[in-house]
Amino acid sequence: LPQTVLISGCSSGIGLELAVQLAHDSRQRYQVVATMRDLGKKGTLEAAAGEALGQTLTVAQLDVCSDESVAQCLSYIQGEVDVLVNNAGVGLVGPLEGLSLATMQKVFDTNFFGAVRLVKAVLPGMKRRRQGHIVVVSSVMGLQGVVFNDVYAASKFALEGFFESLAIQLLQFNIFVSLVEPGPVATDFEGKLLKQVSTAQFPGADPDTLHYFRDLYLPASRELFRSVGQSPQDVAQIIVKVIGSARPPLRRQTNARYALLTALKAADPSGSLYVRTARGLVFRWPRLLSLGLSCLACRCFRTRVGPR
Ligand code: NAD
Repeated sequence: LPQTVLISGCSSGIGLELAVQLAHDSRQRYQVVATMRDLGKKGTLEAAAGEALGQTLTVAQLDVCSDESVAQCLSYIQGEVDVLVNNAGVGLVGPLEGLSLATMQKVFDTNFFGAVRLVKAVLPGMKRRRQGHIVVVSSVMGLQGVVFNDVYAASKFALEGFFESLAIQLLQFNIFVSLVEPGPVATDFEGKLLKQVSTAQFPGADPDTLHYFRDLYLPASRELFRSVGQSPQDVAQIIVKVIGSARPPLRRQTNARYALLTALKAADPSGSLYVRTARGLVFRWPRLLSLGLSCLACRCFRTRVGPR
């Protein structure tokens, strides 16, 4: 019997790609419920799904921030979810002093509590059947902080702590948890963020901080996306493998070219090596980013993490 896979946030990016790849599985192992907050945006997904639409892929409405929407979606599919993919997420960048608490809470409502809400809804069924897989699209920013991404990184750290804790209990029920950690991915995600910051004023942020943000961080971030960015197709392919694996890993980074940066934290448990290097790369020697950091990382770490 095919497994029912419920994915959040499928109107674009990684969620859309994942839904399409699973629906086209050559062994037809999956029945995909591709969900999105706004069904008015389903056109791109339906076009990409092609003949899988109505066969191995159905589209449903789901706002991860609404109890009612989650309940409605689950009653609509009338069955049990075998694989849940918590993909929906929003970003937030900028100087802390210029962001309201309400804006920060919205990020946690979507990225963290949105995933928690869905898990609470599907867990009783998975436990009853002693079977299930919960996949979470986290980020390398769930493993280490990135300057001016304080709140976004915190929301991904929250996911990492929550799901690592839950994974221990769920092994008793034969339910697996996998945190997938992409580095930069070329989706609408970065575009939406850059649009937000191009018009944002960040009232309350001092001129030095604004200078660091606009003149040093933003160009460095663009360079990182340009040099080591992955496509949503590549990330989705790795998630497909994680879903198909007999013993799914708790953590899976997707980008070998980013691994030099994540390895810095593991190499020095005091944290100084990572924090000082990250500061240097953004504020002191930004040209290093374009001078082949990615090539170096690729050579050193291809064998340790990344697409297999
Ligand atoms: P994206 O913006 O294309 O996709 C995010 C999706 O989540 C969108 O379709 C959006 O509509 C949806 N969404 C937002 N709020 C929602 C809500 N309340 N209910 C339902 N859906 C909602 O960007 P993406 O890069 O495909 O992001 C997917 C996931 O990957 C996110 O969790 C993101 O944090 C993570 N991620 C992205 C990157 C990157 O660089 N793009 C890197 C690491 C991790």
